Formats: sequence, structure tokens, C-alpha cells
Amino acid sequence: MAKDSTRSVHEAEPYDEETGSIVAPIFETATFGFTRAEDVPRAVSGEKGYVYSRWDNPTVVRLEKKMAAFEKGEEGAAFASGMAAISTSVFSYLEKGSHAVGIRDLYGGTFSLLRSLLPRLGIGTTLVDTTDLDAMARAVTRDTKVVYIETPTNPTLKLVDIRKASKLAHEVGAELLVDNTFASPINQNPLALGADVVLHSATKYLNGHADVIAGIAVAGKERGHEIKMLRREFGGTLDAFPAWLVLRGLKTMAVRVRQQNAGAMALAEFLSDHRKVKEVHYPGLRTHPQHALARRQMRGFGGMMSFELKGTMRDAMKFTERLKVASLAASLGGVETLVSQPMNMTHTQMTPAERAETGIPDNLVRVSVGIEDAEDLVSDFARALSAT
Ligand code: PLP
Repeated sequence: MAKDSTRSVHEAEPYDEETGSIVAPIFETATFGFTRAEDVPRAVSGEKGYVYSRWDNPTVVRLEKKMAAFEKGEEGAAFASGMAAISTSVFSYLEKGSHAVGIRDLYGGTFSLLRSLLPRLGIGTTLVDTTDLDAMARAVTRDTKVVYIETPTNPTLKLVDIRKASKLAHEVGAELLVDNTFASPINQNPLALGADVVLHSATKYLNGHADVIAGIAVAGKERGHEIKMLRREFGGTLDAFPAWLVLRGLKTMAVRVRQQNAGAMALAEFLSDHRKVKEVHYPGLRTHPQHALARRQMRGFGGMMSFELKGTMRDAMKFTERLKVASLAASLGGVETLVSQPMNMTHTQMTPAERAETGIPDNLVRVSVGIEDAEDLVSDFARALSAT
């Protein structure tokens, strides 16, 4: 089987039949015409042809095929955002009276979905300590349909053992959904470790250039089909133009992510030796409490890390302002290094008590390492730290 860089460039990229164009065309159309009325039923059933771009679109389908190959699944469904992919996939399993289990360290939007929205609709949810698989085993019941995890987590880079979580879910007849946004398919493939659905905010590493909002779910044939059918009703389908941008981004994903892995490792090592830094969270460090698990289930340790400054919330704010190579901004996974303070940006949906419980102090700084040269990044952080 082709390796990652080859697959990035060539997977699901046939020449355009009509013109020979080596770049996928953008089928920016809402609807598709027929010359023979008898072809309509086959298009409507999904057997051959297209009907309407909220259902399916040839540019979007190329992206779905490419991502299905990357994530070692059978069917992909692309969405207008990561949250649309997540909510539609979760709802494809649930009905009134059913139950979902999630970890406590979820991305804010997913956290609200599980903590507030689902219970409002009569769906029971239990959020468990992220690294405590015994707590997860106690939480699942015969009514549990979904076990939802992220690994590594945002922003404290905790890991969940995907194999064990999937076993636990399957024992009660539930399925495991994994948000793989932080790792990217270059570093980790949850489906190959037993998960049933893998989710991405394609806004991040897949597109990689901070200029698109998109999401994708990849699963087996049947579940993928169900998610796509629900997508028609919820209507969060990705449009052709952003799908094309993500396809373009995917061609460089392998090289970008490898550079980000290396840059993050260099920065994490520098920060963990610095006297003004209290703690660094990065799964590639030997000091990470789950480093052995990271080695088992990840091929690279990723571009995301966070660290706690020795100082106050205001010291951390000043530090982020002083960086020159890195920018203070939300989001992650792009070519430019971004820093943020979870307490006032990405984790405002949590109460201060919930943040304290999940280990997100006010002086925590999250870093999304870009593709800049590691030496430049390290000197930028060194200069900003010495002024702090
Ligand atoms: N999952 C994770 C881990 C994220 O970080 C984000 C966004 O930051 C999302 C999901 C949601 O994705 P989107 O913003 O594309 O809806």
C-alpha cells in the first residue's frame, strides 16, 4: 500500500475524464440535470449520478474518498464544520431514552452537546474522568449507544487507550467515536485500533492553512451511509469550493505534519528545561504520564502542546502578546504557529470549577506548532519568556 506522502498526493485524484486536468475540478453547482428521465431513480438511490449538492457532489465525494483511504475506513461524509460532523454522527445513533458516555476533556462544542443539549432531549449522558478506563467501564450500560472520546485531548494532551475503549464500548453493544483532530491521520488511525467512527475538524490539520471551516466523519459502509442520510436532513453538507480547498491542503498533509511533529518536539524539550515553565504537556516527552501509550497508538506525537507558566493568568497573557513568530489566535493545525489561553478562548463553555477539575489552570498556554523552523520558534519563545 502507498505510504502517506504518496497517498496525500495521489489518492482519489483521477484525471478529469473530459479534460485530463490533473487537479480535481470544482463542481460548484447546486443541482444536476438529466437528459433521460429513466436515469433519475438510479441517481436518487445513490447508485449512479448526482441529484442535488446537499446530498452529494463530485468534488465533495473526492474528498470523502481520499479521507476514507487515509483513515482506513470505507465511507466518508464531509460537513460544513467539525461540529456539524460531530453532532450529525452522534445523533445518527441516539433516540429518546438512549445513553451516551464521553470523556470530560472534550472540545468545548462537543462538551456542551453531551453535557447540555442531549440531556435536554431526553438522552442520558455520563462524562467520565478522561484517563480512568475503570470509570468508563462503570458508566456504560445496555442503553449506551455511543462512547465518545478525543485523544490527545484539548488542551492538556491526555490520552485515551483507543483499543481498550473500543472493547469496553463493544461489550455493551455501543460504538466508539473518536475525534482525531489533534493527532491527524498521519499520526494516528483510530479505526485501525477498533473505533467505529473517526471525526475531524477538517479546519485544522487536514486543510492546514487556516482558511476553511470544514469537518469530516469516516466510518464503515453502513454507519457512513446512515451519517450521510442524516446529513441530508440536518443539512450541514460541505460545499464544493471549501471541499476543493481541503483536497488541496491534503496533498501536503504528510510533509506538514512531519515538520510539525519535529518542531513540537524541539519546542517541548526546550520548554521543559526552562526555569519559568512549571509543566509541559506533550505526549512525545518521556515525562508525559502516558508516553508508553502514545508510543503504542501514535506514529508521531503531533504539533499540539500546552504548558503552565510559573506565574499568574496575567503573566501568561503578557507572554502571549510578546511572541513575534507565533500569533495569539484560536484554532490549530495550520502552517503558522498559534498560541492561546484556554481559560479565555477555547474553554469558556466550562465553568472555572470544571476547568479546575480537568486541569486547565488560568496560566496554561496552548501551542499549535506550525511549519516554521524550530530554531526560530524556540528563540521566539525564549525571548518572550525572558521578558516575562
Ligand atoms: N474537535 C476539536 C478537537 C476541535 O479543536 C474543534 C475546533 O476547534 C472541533 C472539533 C470543532 O471543529 P469546527 O470548528 O471545524 O466546527
